[in-house]
Amino acid sequence: MKKLSITILCIVMIFGACFAQNNKKAKYIFLFIGDGMGISHVTLTEAYLADKAKKIGSEYLSFSKFPYTGFATTYSASHFTTCSSAAGTAFATGYKTKNHMLGIAPDSVTKFKSISYKLKEKGLKIGVSSNVGINHATPASFYANNVSRTAYYEIGLQLWQSGFDFFGGGSFLQDKGKTKDLQSLEEITINNGYVVTYGIKAANEIPANVEKVAAFFNENINVQNLSYAINRKEGEAKLSDIVEAEIKFLKAREDKGFFIMAEGGIIDWCAHDNDAAGTVKEVIDLSEAVQVAVDFYNEHPDETLIIVTADHETGGITLARTGGGKHGFASLDGQTGSFGTLGKERGRAICDSINNAAGVGFSTIGHTGIVVPVYAIGAGAELFTGKFDNTDIPRKIMQAAGFEF
Ligand SMILES: [Zn+2]
Repeated sequence: MKKLSITILCIVMIFGACFAQNNKKAKYIFLFIGDGMGISHVTLTEAYLADKAKKIGSEYLSFSKFPYTGFATTYSASHFTTCSSAAGTAFATGYKTKNHMLGIAPDSVTKFKSISYKLKEKGLKIGVSSNVGINHATPASFYANNVSRTAYYEIGLQLWQSGFDFFGGGSFLQDKGKTKDLQSLEEITINNGYVVTYGIKAANEIPANVEKVAAFFNENINVQNLSYAINRKEGEAKLSDIVEAEIKFLKAREDKGFFIMAEGGIIDWCAHDNDAAGTVKEVIDLSEAVQVAVDFYNEHPDETLIIVTADHETGGITLARTGGGKHGFASLDGQTGSFGTLGKERGRAICDSINNAAGVGFSTIGHTGIVVPVYAIGAGAELFTGKFDNTDIPRKIMQAAGFEF
């Protein structure tokens, strides 16, 4: 009897130890970056959704109910208020650099190594994706090094050189360079072993023998960024389409896991335009894309880590503009297109009037230096609590995956 009890105890202990270890190691890692998405963008979107449900308050987004939350600093090596490439560099490499630089140290020479390369060396499949151009600052931070974030052609050349498995999103900015007379980046990418696809359908029908893909989600190859959510027409691609195809592609080819960085890049642009209606629709888009990862997490809860954060806050949004504490959030539905599509002066008048009716204020057309929220769920998610530096995020990701930084 005593012998049996000891045997059972041993089995329980071994099982417990294995379980605890499994719980700690993230094999499938998602890092979602809402470009420009501060806590006020999230609060506004939650309040808008609550209002739609005829309530005053807050409806959860897919990620705002994650069990672990923290705050990350955003300042760069050169400015208290960062730009997306310096913040992207911090997230990708664990080091701060100057505004406008990408994966390069403030000395303009030393190259920083992104965790996507480190995780690839450990055998994980790598996916880099965004609903804006694939060589734009945030996605580029994860595969390229350049002193200038706007050297799109040189950055685009580093895409195939990375050897990463899946690139998804908007196509190359400046495909033939600034002067439009260089060899097409798309052609070079294909010549170096990548399959390039256009549209949602093609990205979901990639043959099993294809190992590396650059999946561009617009059908029209001359349009780089995906449509703004507020302008999107039936059948046009959105961020969740990218993440769905990305998971499908990587899961079918991995044995040691994958790392996906997915950016909601248009939140920032709407907030730069002080367009509250457009901003809300973009945050909802990001929430839907994160939901795709949450569905995956529900199938692999012990091995999946999802982190959702922002590189900085844009627009300095407040929710107290009209005074009296009343907000006509429903008025945001009255806007028929993004600021840019409404015409410059007319667009400003329409957005200002709708922002006013909704009780949404903006303090700047630029970025702010406010800390950003970090939401986490899954294996190692407890590492993402409290206040920490943006450069700690890749370090925590490596720790969650069980690797040295
Ligand atoms: Zn911006």
